[in-house]
Amino acid sequence: MRHFAYQRAGDVAEATALHGSDRSADFIAGGTNLIDMVKLDIMRPERLVDVNRLPLTAIESLDDGRLRIGALVTNTDLAYDERIQADYPVLSEALLSGASTQLRNVATTAGNVMQRTRCPYFRNPSRPCNKREPGSGCGALDGINRNHAVLGVSDKCIAVHPSDMCVAMAALGATVTVEGPSGVREIPFEEYHLLPGDTPEREHALSDGELITHVTLDAPITGAKGHYLKLRDRASFEFALASCAAVVTMDGDTVREARIALGGVATKPWRSFEAEAALSGQPASEATFKQAAEAALAGAVAHRDTAFKIPLAKQAIVRALTTVTAQ
Ligand SMILES: Cc1cc2nc3c(=O)[nH]c(=O)nc-3n(C[C@H](O)[C@H](O)[C@H](O)COP(=O)(O)OP(=O)(O)OC[C@H]3O[C@@H](n4cnc5c(N)ncnc54)[C@H](O)[C@@H]3O)c2cc1C
Repeated sequence: MRHFAYQRAGDVAEATALHGSDRSADFIAGGTNLIDMVKLDIMRPERLVDVNRLPLTAIESLDDGRLRIGALVTNTDLAYDERIQADYPVLSEALLSGASTQLRNVATTAGNVMQRTRCPYFRNPSRPCNKREPGSGCGALDGINRNHAVLGVSDKCIAVHPSDMCVAMAALGATVTVEGPSGVREIPFEEYHLLPGDTPEREHALSDGELITHVTLDAPITGAKGHYLKLRDRASFEFALASCAAVVTMDGDTVREARIALGGVATKPWRSFEAEAALSGQPASEATFKQAAEAALAGAVAHRDTAFKIPLAKQAIVRALTTVTAQ
């Protein structure tokens, strides 16, 4: 059994001071991911800084139309917030498609952004994994990789980013506010999660000791409709094999603007600018949606068991667009 120290912070300044830049310390929020990692011996914190008493539980409408979500807002509270359901339905649907009611009741916004991959090689310390142990190799590349990524992969890592919430946020546009030893920083959501490249152990733009304090959604796009479609092995309590967040505005039967992001198939929440370009100004037809799907998956790379994900992701895009444009 590994021992760790436990400290509870009362405000942001205390939390960041307690953490410092100590690489052996971790923040703990709902604990639904972190405690799993500790039990699996993947994360080995010597100190846990509990952030649950920080005053970061509000969802605030800002004067410029954006919506500021406190890091500790639970996935349940966010999904059922009236402003989210009215103006960002794609986010509510994504949240409610994830995990279970019990988990969503304690899982937090920041914890969801920071959740680790479900790759079985990452989660098994006896297997090689460049993300967990740089330079040890990637067991998934030539191993059992049915649940792995086809977009954003490298020859060091093909692990999928598992979040549903983040896929919707990628489509909507957002900013992550972080606070730490060097002050407050704003990070565009698009730049927050990193591609694995040669350094899969670097998963996000957070520096040592920085705490996420808020995620702020861009102002809703006037007249936009949204939908999140999640395809998985069973209908609930399962991660995505392929998912699509679609946010669309129409001029009559023509797509004026579209935002498309994919989950379950990529190493980070995957905004597809290629699909968006293929949709803009085009008639809302099956042919257009198929062209967008082709564009989104044009750069996909399949490994032994992942080839099926390419047509599956295309179907997710076509179905999500068919649903959203029929609303
Ligand atoms: C059985 C199961 C099924 C699941 N299914 C799904 C699913 O279908 N879809 C989905 O999207 N997710 C799913 N999840 C993942 C779930 O959404 C995450 O576990 C949860 O969102 C993590 O939030 P938390 O508050 O519990 O984080 P914690 O476990 O407390 O923390 C997770 C990580 O975030 C860090 N952290 C927490 N707060 C902050 C902060 N403010 N600033 C910086 N770092 C911070 C911690 O240090 C830790 O590294 C599932 C989880 C489980 C256990």
